Amino acid sequence: MASVDRLEADKEAPGLGMHAFIADLYPICRSITGDGVRKTLRRIQAHIPLRIHEVPTGTRVLDWTVPKEWNIRDAYIKDERGERIVDFQESNLHVVNYSVPVEKTMTGEELKSHLHTLPDQPDRIPYRTSYYNRTWGFCLRHRSLEKLSPQKTYEVCIDSSLEEGALSYGECYLPGETDQEVLLSCHSCHPSLCNDNLSGIALCTFLADWLQEQNTRYSYRFLFIPGTIGSITWLARSEDILDSIQHGLVVACVGDDGDFHYKRTRRGDAEIDRVVEHVLAASEQEFDVRDFTPYGYDERQYCSPGFNLPVGSLTRTPHGRFPEYHTSADDLDLVTPEALGESLEIYKRAVQVLEKNRTYVSTNPKGEPQLGRRGLYRAMGGHQDTEEKQMAMLWVLNLADGEHTLLDMAKRSGISVDTLQTVAEILYRHDLLEHDREATTS
Ligand code: ZN
Repeated sequence: MASVDRLEADKEAPGLGMHAFIADLYPICRSITGDGVRKTLRRIQAHIPLRIHEVPTGTRVLDWTVPKEWNIRDAYIKDERGERIVDFQESNLHVVNYSVPVEKTMTGEELKSHLHTLPDQPDRIPYRTSYYNRTWGFCLRHRSLEKLSPQKTYEVCIDSSLEEGALSYGECYLPGETDQEVLLSCHSCHPSLCNDNLSGIALCTFLADWLQEQNTRYSYRFLFIPGTIGSITWLARSEDILDSIQHGLVVACVGDDGDFHYKRTRRGDAEIDRVVEHVLAASEQEFDVRDFTPYGYDERQYCSPGFNLPVGSLTRTPHGRFPEYHTSADDLDLVTPEALGESLEIYKRAVQVLEKNRTYVSTNPKGEPQLGRRGLYRAMGGHQDTEEKQMAMLWVLNLADGEHTLLDMAKRSGISVDTLQTVAEILYRHDLLEHDREATTS
């Protein structure tokens, strides 16, 4: 029993750390540019080696242009008694993200067209943005709107700035044995919203921190970028390394307690698709797999036809499908340490399978090699699982033709990837197998 308790404690611990990290980042007002993003990136930098890039306003990136930098200090609507009835200091969701500065006195009637609420969810503040149209607005609880009088006058202030500056994003590169890469990307532009996507930021940070301690075959690249404009900016600046990207995942909405959802790459049959589906199936939980659609997060850019990178997206409940999505209810209670920890485990498992899922080439493909002479049965010891390992060895030797990955072998044989890999590495050490060429090139 003690070991079971221990296992539970270990499983929960990373989730607690992730939740605490989310709580630390939660109050910061982020956007696609500005100091909130920089502050967030600096806090990530305390955990992992992160290079912070600053791309100047006006830079052309593919078909887009890096926008002006937005910063905000304060915003409110005051009633006739001077009381703040809508207050940015209470929640940064109260201001339409990217609002231009305003200082006015206006009637409730005039103000109305600048106010956004959710009549169906009257106690929640909606999250709204206006990145590419110059406007301003407030988001509030529908209940507060009902108290606003069309005849009365209100003092309206948004103390923001929209100026020449830069777009900031973070990049963490962890070199492995080869320069073949795995890309993990999360959007870091949302203000006080937890599942979408502080959960993704926390998962990428903790996954990178764990990977720092591993010896990996692949190199890993983590991106902390503003949605859409960030991936477009990174792609425009990184075309020379895109050929190295072998697998990728967009990380979002990984903190709620819903089932896992995997959205396949545009290619539909990439190795990452098979690996994630294998890991989810092996987890013995409910999960859902969908084909690529050109809607969602930054996989839209990575999978645009000119790049067509093998990038899928692994979430729990997908965006737009949980009622708290893009509202103030996407808060610290919606994301749980248990769900975060479990998501991290699934991602780690996907990394482990990717790392193992190579092809092998037999050095003795004509007839079976004489195993007894090499003492290979003994090397595996007289355990109960010896018989399975012997079968695994025969399968690996037979399918070590450079065409079958370990996952393919697992599918054909019904033997786990872990067992096949253990056996394959023993055969490799006895010079009966070579690693596939691609994976050993550095
Ligand atoms: Zn969102």
